[in-house]
Amino acid sequence: MTESLLERSARYIDGASYEGPRTINPIDGSFHEVADGVGLVCGFSHIWTLDGGEGLALLDTSLPGFASAALQHLRRWRDVPVDTIVYTHGHVDHVSGARTFIDDASERGRREPAVVAHRAVGRRFDRYDLTRDYNEIINGRQFGPNFRIGAFDGDWVRPQTTYDDRLDLEVGSAGLQLIHERGETDDHTIVWVPQIRALFTGDLIIWAFPNAGNPQKAQRYAADWAAALRRMIDLRPEFLLPAHGLPIAGAERVAGVLDDTATALEGLVRDTLEMMNAGARLDEIVHTVRVPQHLLDKPYLRPSYDEPEFVVRNIWRLYGGWHDGNPARLKPPTDRAVAAEVAALAGGPDRLARRAAELCEAGELRLACQLAEWAGQAAPADAEVHAARAEVYRIRRDRELSLMARNLYRDASRSSEAVSQPPPLPD
Ligand SMILES: [Zn+2]
Repeated sequence: MTESLLERSARYIDGASYEGPRTINPIDGSFHEVADGVGLVCGFSHIWTLDGGEGLALLDTSLPGFASAALQHLRRWRDVPVDTIVYTHGHVDHVSGARTFIDDASERGRREPAVVAHRAVGRRFDRYDLTRDYNEIINGRQFGPNFRIGAFDGDWVRPQTTYDDRLDLEVGSAGLQLIHERGETDDHTIVWVPQIRALFTGDLIIWAFPNAGNPQKAQRYAADWAAALRRMIDLRPEFLLPAHGLPIAGAERVAGVLDDTATALEGLVRDTLEMMNAGARLDEIVHTVRVPQHLLDKPYLRPSYDEPEFVVRNIWRLYGGWHDGNPARLKPPTDRAVAAEVAALAGGPDRLARRAAELCEAGELRLACQLAEWAGQAAPADAEVHAARAEVYRIRRDRELSLMARNLYRDASRSSEAVSQPPPLPD
């Protein structure tokens, strides 16, 4: 007998065990009936479905490839129309598959599914249209140059029905309560199905440390996120069904996961605000505020995607401003000018690069990266300096846990490899 996803999550939570991101966040396009009338297609974001008798409710649509796989699975499971699609939020990996379901309905002569979401989803799509190229660039950095999410093309399936705080939906016999919460985004919907005590969380639970810091993206809301998790505990769910990672069954288990996640976020907010109120600079706060290790060790709170240090910066940005409190950075010189000056003082960019390598060797990776960066900027075409910079960032990447830090350092390393090992000229 293979282990069900619920059995696996119970084993991880009860045994506090961790076997890596592959088994904790299956994205293989497989289908699972997690509870009676509740289906899951595992994808880059999951597609959840509820059987209402004459039609299905879908929660999220993933990316087009996963949506196509879901169509096959759903047809085998229940050959009834998709009645309603709910977006838990407007991130592209949750909404880009919608067109696939709409097209399938029209090909089969069925009524197109109604699309429902929080009001702010439309504003998000407008923002994406203004920053299409930026989003391609940063996602290339965050997920790797070969990862083409390919969904910022403006072909959004916009919701026809939107709501502000709460919306009750009936899809056949299934009663869904849509509740707006702010956390990872300003447009999140969680879905509570009281008949089966099932809570669909969107990205408010992802089986990794909350994505409340993301260095390249718009504001996240750590305090609201924690408050949302507390309200979710009050619903006393039996099933916690997230958009990434494993489904969880059992009231006590569910409450524990929600409580630990809320506690981690509350601590970051409390400690950051306390230092802000005491007049600390961002630099001091970033190097002081921590999440207790026993929370980071939980299999559902590993900093494998985002990480607490980035969350602290987002808390500062939300309550403070962009200025970090260092007056030299209020109206700073260009990075290039600082690099040239420091390199001249050090006796040349090569001396800086050598010192960066020594610091790297000594495990002083933060300092090593700063010196390597100055060296690289002071000598933008120097193959040896850039070989050193590439090596420093390669080592940094290997020592980091979060996907975001790892891939951003990999991008830095590759940019120097392009200088130190230029591609051969064509004959
Ligand atoms: Zn997501």
